[in-house]
Amino acid sequence: ATDESSNKRVLITVDEKDRGGPEKLKVTLGEIPVPSNSQVLIQVKACGVNFIDVYHRTGLYPGITEIGKEGAGVILAVGKQVEQFKVGQNTKELMVIPEPLLKTHKEKGYIYAAAIPLQGLTAHYLCRSVYDVGPNDTVLVHAGAGGTGGLLIQICKKILKCKCVITTVGSDDKAKVALQSGADYVINYEKEDFYEKVNLFTKGKGCNVVYDGVGKATWEKSLKCVSPLGRVVYFGNSSGKIPPIDPLELTKQGSVTLVRPNLAHFIATPEALQARAKELFEWIESQQLQIRIGAAIPLKNAAKAHQLIESRDTTGKIVLIP
Ligand code: NDP
Repeated sequence: ATDESSNKRVLITVDEKDRGGPEKLKVTLGEIPVPSNSQVLIQVKACGVNFIDVYHRTGLYPGITEIGKEGAGVILAVGKQVEQFKVGQNTKELMVIPEPLLKTHKEKGYIYAAAIPLQGLTAHYLCRSVYDVGPNDTVLVHAGAGGTGGLLIQICKKILKCKCVITTVGSDDKAKVALQSGADYVINYEKEDFYEKVNLFTKGKGCNVVYDGVGKATWEKSLKCVSPLGRVVYFGNSSGKIPPIDPLELTKQGSVTLVRPNLAHFIATPEALQARAKELFEWIESQQLQIRIGAAIPLKNAAKAHQLIESRDTTGKIVLIP
């Protein structure tokens, strides 16, 4: 994003030696970069907030000091070798956001464009590649009112037509959001034991696949929710890191498999990214997949967005507006 008064770019940063809570984030001005031969320079009009931004801020995922992984805007400059994109194009149109969304408000298209890629591609690879969800599957999704969780529920239930989606949420208000996404059963895991409930809903059979992005608080019971030969997918640490796991626990559970995947490996080549994005955007364009914007916050209040997502006070996607 650019600061118009100084014609510099605006960055949200953290000092390598002074990491910590949201208050450690700083708004920093820097020179506008010149794109290399293969790069495109985009003036960002909306940024997506993701839980990974918290890990980058705290240093759980080390080495990053510029915070934020997602944005949408207008192309300002292209490198010499770039043929596919032109100056002045905007990323929301390149991403085929449904026309009704684009028409409702000029800036709204950017908000949706910034909201989709990271959580959308994650939900896509989790239920199409890490485990190929199909009509016979019963699926458990944690944090079903969150950004990634809400998309996972919709894709599994409405698009891949799985038999049953069970989800967990941290409040009764969030339960309503998860039901809107299409969950068959919603468990408020602050009030109820989710393992006992899953056992009840599945008549003791468990789930073919468990998607756990919560981590420390849930991993142990998540493993118990998997049916024999099923798969537990630990894809995040919103409550903290998972401790080492004894492989014999996988045998005890019925020869289940455990995966700890990362989006980067599933979009590692342009072909892989394009194929995945194509299917994702087809679902969005045909309005089979709905994007829920939980809040849009001014970019200079990025610390507020971090505070909200860490305090479990958000549903859907949080977006920052420069
Ligand atoms: P969300 O919108 O889902 O927000 C996180 C949610 O986690 C909260 O709303 C909350 O829901 C739940 N939660 C449970 N316990 C805690 C806790 N102690 N502190 C904070 N939140 C808690 O975020 P995202 O959709 O951006 O990310 C979801 C997960 O997916 C994260 O762990 C993220 O790292 C992971 N991820 C992994 C990727 C990968 O490739 N491996 C890629 C993208 C995301 P509730 O109150 O309902 O419990």
